[in-house]
Amino acid sequence: MQFTHVHSRSHAGLEAPSVTVEIHLTAGLPHFQIVGLGDSASRQVYGRVRSALLSSHFKWPDFRITVNLAPTDLPKGGTRFDLPIALGLLVASGQLPAQSLDDREFFGELGLDGCIHSFHGALAAAMEACRAHRVCGIAAQDAEKIASVTGGRILAAPDLLTLCAQLKAPTPPLIRTDFAFEAPERQYPDLAELKGQPLTHEVLKLAAAGGHHLLMSGPPGVGKTLAASILPGLLPELPPDTQRQVNLLRDLAGLGFINGPPLRQPHHSSTIAALMGGTAKAIPGEISMAHGGVLFLDELTEFPRPVLNQLRQPLESGEIWVSRAAHQHRYPAQFQLVAAMNPCPCGHAGSRESACRCTPDTIRRYRQGASGPLMDRIDLHVTLRRPPPECLLSGTDTPDYSATVRPDIATARERQLHRQGALNRDLRGENLIAVCSLSSQTQKWLIEAMKTLQLSARSTHRRLRVARTIADLEGSTSVSVEHLNTAVGLREAPTDTDAAQA
Ligand SMILES: [Zn+2]
Repeated sequence: MQFTHVHSRSHAGLEAPSVTVEIHLTAGLPHFQIVGLGDSASRQVYGRVRSALLSSHFKWPDFRITVNLAPTDLPKGGTRFDLPIALGLLVASGQLPAQSLDDREFFGELGLDGCIHSFHGALAAAMEACRAHRVCGIAAQDAEKIASVTGGRILAAPDLLTLCAQLKAPTPPLIRTDFAFEAPERQYPDLAELKGQPLTHEVLKLAAAGGHHLLMSGPPGVGKTLAASILPGLLPELPPDTQRQVNLLRDLAGLGFINGPPLRQPHHSSTIAALMGGTAKAIPGEISMAHGGVLFLDELTEFPRPVLNQLRQPLESGEIWVSRAAHQHRYPAQFQLVAAMNPCPCGHAGSRESACRCTPDTIRRYRQGASGPLMDRIDLHVTLRRPPPECLLSGTDTPDYSATVRPDIATARERQLHRQGALNRDLRGENLIAVCSLSSQTQKWLIEAMKTLQLSARSTHRRLRVARTIADLEGSTSVSVEHLNTAVGLREAPTDTDAAQA
């Protein structure tokens, strides 16, 4: 046979569109060309596939070889087409029976010695193949993990020679999923490790229950990083679809699977591409890697303003479009933002223990880094103080454990989803006022508080959302004066947001 085709899959965001690898052999001077890929990409594939065939004791077909990856308008970077191209060449040159490729899909990178390597994004490709009711042939190293997640039929081999032997067999040995692959549970620090800080405990519970974004301000060593890393451990289990997306994203980035909400902590020197996604390979950025979990930005004011401004759109839409060449890839990015900052460059402004060495002007400029539109999306702004030293040594109070507060948080979230189909952090305008069901007495109290504290409309709405979550944690249908009082009483981080709007 001089012409054959093999099914494979490309990559577009979390999807893996079908690609047909067409192989045509014609007489003439031996030559290898992949239509649509440049000469250098063609030469690289040629080098790997030819070495792999020869190392596996097959013959390299001495023909003019033309390979086409159809449809031509899909992005086709990466090395995943090595395996289908090699199998197509074997069938076209009569070294493998044609029917061995029927109803099967193949993807994998070939080593020069003929071994099959896994590649980033194999999970997405295997899931789509299973949906199309095709057996998929992949590298042996990932087979069990992928088989258990997709629930499909997998043909796995460590190298090309073994795979061809399996394909020739009347009944190839398929890996089936009689077991569920258990990704390791993510271990986060326990709430009880944060000692002598009842305010931080309260704020973390509120953030977890209402999904509120959180900004913590406080001197170095007050436990901001610890608090941020406790939060994902307070969140309820992820819905199965979200958990699958989390692992699809991790597979694309070449990371292991996890069970539970992720925590990502990009450094303030991260580029926009690293944070948002869209490097040369259009891989997901940190905001997508934090999907379903927490994105922690430590030293918020050190992040360049353009980087922070980019966060606003995904915070609203819960997704991000990443461009690569002429193609757009969509990645989910529903994350909870936790940011931390010092109150001033030296870290001691407002402190009772140490004197601040900064001038008012440097403090103002420093805090400007944490103002602007991004701050409007953050409901909880709090200032943390160092706990008294004796709290660190003795257990002065009965500690809250993550495991004991998690059920209340899960119940409060269920209440919100049942009532308004969204978390309290997503409440806006009239919906927000409606679900708070304020009595006339509470309304009067709120208007007085707005006048006395000179609260802008935006910061009043922020406090209403938090008050709604306090009421949900208590199981109350309406927001009372006490709930509002607690929400208003949370110490504000000094970000100049209200001043900037005034
Ligand atoms: Zn200072």
